[in-house]
Amino acid sequence: MPAVKEFVTPLKPTWCPGCGNFGMWEALKRALSELAWEKNEFSVVWGIGCHGNGADFLDVQGMHALHGRAIPPATALRLTRPDLKVVVEMGDGDGYGIGLGHFVHALRRNPDLTIIAHDNQIYGLTTGQASPTTDHLMPTVSTPTGVLEQPINPIGLALAEDATFVARGFAGDIPHLTELYKQALVHKGLALVDVMQPCVTWNHLNTFQWFRERVYKLEESGWDTSDRSAAFDLSMTAFHDLTCTPEECKIPIGVFYQREGVPTYEDGVPASAEPGYLRAEQPRDVSAILASLG
Ligand code: SF4
Repeated sequence: MPAVKEFVTPLKPTWCPGCGNFGMWEALKRALSELAWEKNEFSVVWGIGCHGNGADFLDVQGMHALHGRAIPPATALRLTRPDLKVVVEMGDGDGYGIGLGHFVHALRRNPDLTIIAHDNQIYGLTTGQASPTTDHLMPTVSTPTGVLEQPINPIGLALAEDATFVARGFAGDIPHLTELYKQALVHKGLALVDVMQPCVTWNHLNTFQWFRERVYKLEESGWDTSDRSAAFDLSMTAFHDLTCTPEECKIPIGVFYQREGVPTYEDGVPASAEPGYLRAEQPRDVSAILASLG
């Protein structure tokens, strides 16, 4: 079983001190170690943003994709290397902004991916502009008088598109997040873990303290994870109101919904039954192609 420290590269994380990315990084390392996943058994694909810098700090095989485009290469990886488990790390501005179309269609397809969303409700890397999940009316550097749009609801969106595992985590509770990751990683089909990840530099509303005063754990409330309609209603819990007190606005964390036994996208693609590299000619002889070119 790989120890947690074996997932650490020699590079020192460049995230701001106190950033929620540290908690998510730690939880993922612990989950991978506790699941005893060997490094040749899985791969991680990152999008672009502060979270994406984690590609330098997590010692695994993977790739750093384009902005908003982590899901397409991850899906391709699942189709060509079905022997690999695949994890996507994306940001809210990344995966719910320019990458929203990929996200919605992945939900429809149900590939066997675990999508971890670093949801800090702001564009951190580009210095504090409003993102798709920024609270309504919150002032940011790009919206000094407040955001006019309503925020994207990732949990509700995933449930509406019939995702088979939908959860919310909090970067300030590493043991709870580790357990959520472990459940998502072993789920067969698309698993979304949307993680409340405070950006301590640019989001001065949704802080660690703000979340600590509001979060509660679904599993401690006797939640039924098989009831999709109830999960959808719960996803509408309004905590994006700036005037909402901790008593008025509670934020559920944990597994909202899970359905097992649903065929994955790969199950319907016969060519993915065996790894693509095994189907390739070994070693590939390209001499005839070169000769044909003269
Ligand atoms: Fe974290 Fe925000 Fe700093 Fe980015 S800008 S590293 S999200 S605290």
